[in-house]
Amino acid sequence: MRPEGLPESSSWPVVTPLSPSVVYSSQSPDALDDQYEGRAQGFTYSREGHPNAQVVAARLDAMEGAEGGVVTGSGMGAVSAVLMGLLKTGDHVIGGNQLYGRSLRLMAEDLPRLGIATTLADPGDVASVEAAIRPETKMVLVEVLSNPTLRLADIDGLAALCKAKGLLLVVDNTFTTPRAFRPFDHGADIVLHSITKLLAGHSDAMLGYVVAKDPALTERMRIFSVTTGMTPSPFDCWLAERGMLSFDLRFDRAEATAARLADHLAAQAGVKRVLYPGRADHPDHAGAMALLDSHGCNMVSFELDFGEGGARAGRAAANAFARAAEGLSFAPTLGDAGTTLSHPASSSHRGLTAEAREALGMSEGFFRVSVGLEEPEALLAVFTRAIAAATA
Ligand SMILES: *Cc1c(COP(=O)(O)O)cnc(C)c1O
Repeated sequence: MRPEGLPESSSWPVVTPLSPSVVYSSQSPDALDDQYEGRAQGFTYSREGHPNAQVVAARLDAMEGAEGGVVTGSGMGAVSAVLMGLLKTGDHVIGGNQLYGRSLRLMAEDLPRLGIATTLADPGDVASVEAAIRPETKMVLVEVLSNPTLRLADIDGLAALCKAKGLLLVVDNTFTTPRAFRPFDHGADIVLHSITKLLAGHSDAMLGYVVAKDPALTERMRIFSVTTGMTPSPFDCWLAERGMLSFDLRFDRAEATAARLADHLAAQAGVKRVLYPGRADHPDHAGAMALLDSHGCNMVSFELDFGEGGARAGRAAANAFARAAEGLSFAPTLGDAGTTLSHPASSSHRGLTAEAREALGMSEGFFRVSVGLEEPEALLAVFTRAIAAATA
């Protein structure tokens, strides 16, 4: 029975209603059978699905050229649904050696505890991934652009290798987004996202998404996510849907400003080097332009030129830069409407020794910038002033 008290209406809302209901009532046991057995569409209990999640999933499905994707309560939920929902004890998985920090942790700590072996390899070097393959290898997980040095994975080469060896190629498309890259068009088997970042775009909703080309694999990940309670909040889905309405515009604006910022930084006396795949001096420039169809991304990394004096001088310059960068958030995230700065040596890569960080090219003077939607000229001026203050 439809509840009393809802106003009659022969028109309908323009905006998707927020549906916080945890439970849904049905007409009869037969009606419930129809739902559970797929003859009728309906909801039962929101851990298993709800309208707001379904709307977000459908939007992402359309963007990725996918069907039936699963929305999870965070990007790490999506990573976990792939690795823990599909692999079993005795399996082996290869991960990119510069994956998102928590993904690395899941591979280093949790999978081995469950008897799933892991190896890291350089996703830009297919031969190194091939060398890591064992008889029990099932999957290769990579990001298209690495964090924070923005090195390119050889997706086409990895797709050919995975096809030849019968492995699943999983692509975390968070940095590149479907605006710049669609992994299914390049032979990936599974695509995942942290919606939290650019897609939702306002740092107020935490969500993930995962989908496989093979519907049977998507179904296994859906069941795992329901069983382990990765349910997304309806409100976060509602916010994300709203954010995604402007996603293309935001991406294009941030990408265009990032390209300008990269060139601007490279022209500053206080900057030692700039990493941006859209610049000709990036080591993967040609490959990135081909793979990303001439798109860049909204991320730029750079190193302050802090002169002699080693790590101490680098940290002093980094402190001065972060303090002088008025209006920019010093925060370990990306894809916000505002420009954010992160400093790998004190955050994402603090667990490494200084030598290991140097080897990866991340000194104390190294910053990662997630470019937001500010007026470009004003943003460049903030960087000019902050760099001058840091390297004076
Ligand atoms: C942030 C991020 C994740 C994890 O997403 P959350 O929504 O924070 O759980 C996974 N992969 C990449 C590349 C990310 O940037």
